[in-house]
Amino acid sequence: MRKIAIYGKGGIGKSTTTQNTVAGLAEMGKKVMVVGCDPKADSTRLLLGGLAQKSVLDTLREEGEDVDLDDIRKVGFGGTLCVESGGPEPGVGCAGRGIITSINLLESLGAYDESEGLDYVFYDVLGDVVCGGFAMPIREGKAREIYIVCSGEMMAMYAANNICKGVRKFAEAGGVRLGGLICNSRKVENEEELIKAFAKKLGTQMIYFLPRDNMVQKAEINRKTVIDYDPNCEMAQHYRNLAKAIDENDMFVIPQPMHTDELEKLLMEYGILD
Ligand code: ATP
Ligand code: MG
Repeated sequence: MRKIAIYGKGGIGKSTTTQNTVAGLAEMGKKVMVVGCDPKADSTRLLLGGLAQKSVLDTLREEGEDVDLDDIRKVGFGGTLCVESGGPEPGVGCAGRGIITSINLLESLGAYDESEGLDYVFYDVLGDVVCGGFAMPIREGKAREIYIVCSGEMMAMYAANNICKGVRKFAEAGGVRLGGLICNSRKVENEEELIKAFAKKLGTQMIYFLPRDNMVQKAEINRKTVIDYDPNCEMAQHYRNLAKAIDENDMFVIPQPMHTDELEKLLMEYGILD
């Protein structure tokens, strides 16, 4: 079973990209579980369509410890298994702890057991930096493989670089590795070349370049992944390609984060900073 966590700057497209890619993997016949680690609990809505998903933490609060797997895990598009860890009540408690509570509960209920036949678990993680609670999935060895969603926008690249610092720290102690950068285009000039160069500096690869396409929003308004909403459109094929690239990936590294001045030089070279 491959255990993958998706990181990236806030709003960059982690949840959208995760679900669309998972739809692609499901179409390939892979058995996938998605665990949303965001208190917003929006990591599985496209896979679940209209289905209401109650978060693990809400279920625990309302029903106590006596919880069944079916109470917290719903079946979505293509047989994907969907879980939302949820969060503490706003302003109280640490969201990171909630994630660990959820994962531990899933483990004790057998969600990761061999007999479940999972090929993949995806963690859609909130947070720009791999800090505090949000490092949990990788710190505790729950996720072993990281992909960072970024774009050619400066702040997205800064965030990606910071995440690499976190990954590096945990990689040295545990077995977590970076599998690559997913460029989710913001239509920045020279974006593909820039992110390829950035990935190379980090010692990794740009595993795929996703164009910006309004089809993503169209599908989202209809609470579907693009593959579900319009399987023949171009964007659906891009997500299938990304799913295949991840499935075939064999480049797993401990990233080499860049110094800020070096990163700024790169941005200047590609005409982003001037
Ligand atoms: P957060 O950090 O808040 O969890 P996120 O990184 O999960 O955010 P998403 O919620 O997935 O980001 O995406 C933000 C918005 O960007 C969504 O409305 C989504 O439809 C849109 N979006 C993502 N990828 C694309 C794309 N390739 N083309 C067009 N729109 C996109
Ligand atoms: Mg999200």
